[in-house]
Amino acid sequence: MENLIEPKKLTCSHCKNLIESSEAIFCNHCGFPENGTKEQKGKFYGQLAIKKNRNIDAKDKIKSARNTLFILAGIVAIFGLLAYSTHQDILILGINFLLSLIYLTLAFWSEKKPMMALLIGLLLYITTIAITAIFEPTTLIKGVIWKILIVGYLGKGIYSASSIKD
Ligand SMILES: [Zn+2]
Repeated sequence: MENLIEPKKLTCSHCKNLIESSEAIFCNHCGFPENGTKEQKGKFYGQLAIKKNRNIDAKDKIKSARNTLFILAGIVAIFGLLAYSTHQDILILGINFLLSLIYLTLAFWSEKKPMMALLIGLLLYITTIAITAIFEPTTLIKGVIWKILIVGYLGKGIYSASSIKD
């Protein structure tokens, strides 16, 4: 006579997965304290809410960083056109249009791979500032607040993308 009583199968009331042992306090899938105390359950939901808020906050920062890339794409295109209209500089126009296209691509790509896309965008931005400064050192100071803002938005986006958890 063995196992007359079927072991009671327990589903997690949070993630609906089967909990392997009915004696287990925590769900082995999501960590919900199915057989835990009221306090443990409260703590679980509290932490869940914090995590969710953090992710919402992170997604907002990624969105701002993505918008920064779109704005950059617009700015470099306009600068290229200005350079062309004032100096008939076709080279600058070409370079700026190419840069604009890359920023645009990165902005769209950041929907799928935010961390990588924003990181490349930031590196590209810093590189163009550095290269421009080599040719014309005074450009480094020009619009320095904008530069700091752009680097800041992109940096925050990268940090948020690296911290996001589901
Ligand atoms: Zn669960």
